Amino acid sequence: MCVSGMLVGGQGAGLWYDPASVRRFLIAIDFDGTITQHDTLHLIVDRFGDRSVWDRLTPDVIAGRVSVEEAMQAEFATVRATPDQVLNLVRARAGVRDGFVDFVAWARDVGHDVRVLSNGFRLVIADTLERLGVGDLPFDSHDAEFSVAGTRLIWTERGERCALCDRPCKRFDLAAARAGLAVAYLGDGVSDRCVCGAADVVFARAELADWLRAEHRDFVPFEEFGQVRAHLEQLAQGRHA
Ligand SMILES: [Mg+2]
Ligand SMILES: [Zn+2]
Repeated sequence: MCVSGMLVGGQGAGLWYDPASVRRFLIAIDFDGTITQHDTLHLIVDRFGDRSVWDRLTPDVIAGRVSVEEAMQAEFATVRATPDQVLNLVRARAGVRDGFVDFVAWARDVGHDVRVLSNGFRLVIADTLERLGVGDLPFDSHDAEFSVAGTRLIWTERGERCALCDRPCKRFDLAAARAGLAVAYLGDGVSDRCVCGAADVVFARAELADWLRAEHRDFVPFEEFGQVRAHLEQLAQGRHA
């Protein structure tokens, strides 16, 4: 496993272990299904929209006749709900993965940068982080204008299409945020596949873990954030678990 990005002089003040051996990471965390237990986009479409639109467009997406973004917009056009209805649903049903808030506090305390990289919606992410008491956590995402007349997606600029996956890709946000740090990436789904290749250590669950396993790629499986902390602590002490 390739890990780099040693702390430079001065930044380790206050740490309880020898800063010379510490790897400082940008810890980039997917939102839906990683911080939350359930994918909020799925929850929203299931409750307020028509899931069959996506299923109907899937062959066109696979064949390249329709982009993923066009298919998502068609799907969300069927979502008829106010922002408050959406937030109430997410608050009641999304759930939060065990250990998230403690993990963020620990990571920041020992000097890691923490950032959320999401293909989901600003409104939902901001509300969730705020409720959890980590509203100051930086995040990159898209957004949606929810309305009873149908929902419009607002895509965040992610530069040129990614040369590797031909999509607006999280690699763009990661490159802008990493500032020379080693990257620990946490994710669960298809939108995490490409960006994983730019990380120094990958923590994966669910579909992403299955895919990485099939691709014979290195990753650390996780189901709760305490496992991630334990692994990063081992790396910090120079033990490659
Ligand atoms: Mg996800
Ligand atoms: Zn890509």
